[in-house]
Amino acid sequence: MTEEAFDVVVVGSCMTDLVSQAPRLPKAGETIHGHKFFIGFGGKGANQCIQAARMGAKTAMVCKVGKDFFGENYIQNFKDNGVSTEFVGQTVDSATGAASIIVNDAGENAIVIVAGANLLLGGEDLRRALPALSHAKVMVCQLEISPDTSLQALRLSHENNVKTIFNPAPAIPDLDPEFYRASDVFCCNESEAELLTGVAVASIEDAGRAGEELLRRGCSSVIITLGSRGCVVLSAQEPSSPSHHVPTKPVTTVDTTGAGDSFIGALAFYMAHFPTMSLEEMARRANQVAGVSVQTIGTQASYPSKKDLPTDLF
Ligand code: ADP
Repeated sequence: MTEEAFDVVVVGSCMTDLVSQAPRLPKAGETIHGHKFFIGFGGKGANQCIQAARMGAKTAMVCKVGKDFFGENYIQNFKDNGVSTEFVGQTVDSATGAASIIVNDAGENAIVIVAGANLLLGGEDLRRALPALSHAKVMVCQLEISPDTSLQALRLSHENNVKTIFNPAPAIPDLDPEFYRASDVFCCNESEAELLTGVAVASIEDAGRAGEELLRRGCSSVIITLGSRGCVVLSAQEPSSPSHHVPTKPVTTVDTTGAGDSFIGALAFYMAHFPTMSLEEMARRANQVAGVSVQTIGTQASYPSKKDLPTDLF
């Protein structure tokens, strides 16, 4: 293993997006001609890791891909972005995670996700990555891999005093209560907050109420992202006035796919590089980074690098 500790270790998913654009979505049994096809790199874990790396964090990804073309391609994508692939496993037992996406001319889509190799990431892989996991400044995980593996990663990080960001996405009902207690920052979007807490989140005040419920469940801090309205930040250390709205600047929005992952990747960078900065200030800056990502098409393709961002964000 490399001698120097990683700033950010992400335990999570990689997905290859296979995107076909067609005039309409095909019916069952039908073959139609589309007008454009492209392959994109996705998966929440990989997206967050790549955004942190582009900001300048020393990053490692702990994940599993297939021993196939898409797996090889994904490993090269990590290398191209300066992410350590020392803990990227390849398996012959399953294919690299893939999302087959059809988008029609009205912008509607039909998507089939096959998580594949992502679901084979397990305890043995975490043990192999322990030297990196136990010395990282920040560990980030989500729910696109087996929830058990994410929980183990959170536990290991906690035991080693590594700061954790947990992104409960895609949200599952009846989340194991230990997820809340093991999260230093529990970061989700409006719909995930709603599904987890049962509080309908339509306004900033609603988000504050949902956040308070998440704090009650044991999180140290909570961030709920609110699209163009920025986010709310809550901390268990401020029980009297726990909820703060952090607005963001209006931008010309082109494609918001992956904005939440850009936000979390940037947040991980700030937590690793500025450990004494307030969470509100980190969220204000992460809003601006994610705000850049919505101004161009694509997921990882739209994520800014340090050189694309104002110097006062560093
Ligand atoms: P998700 O992608 O998980 O649905 P959000 O839509 O809440 O997450 O977006 C995450 C973050 O991205 C927001 O907190 C904000 O910082 C930024 N963002 C998203 N949409 C916009 C937008 N239309 N204008 C400016 N910033 C945005």
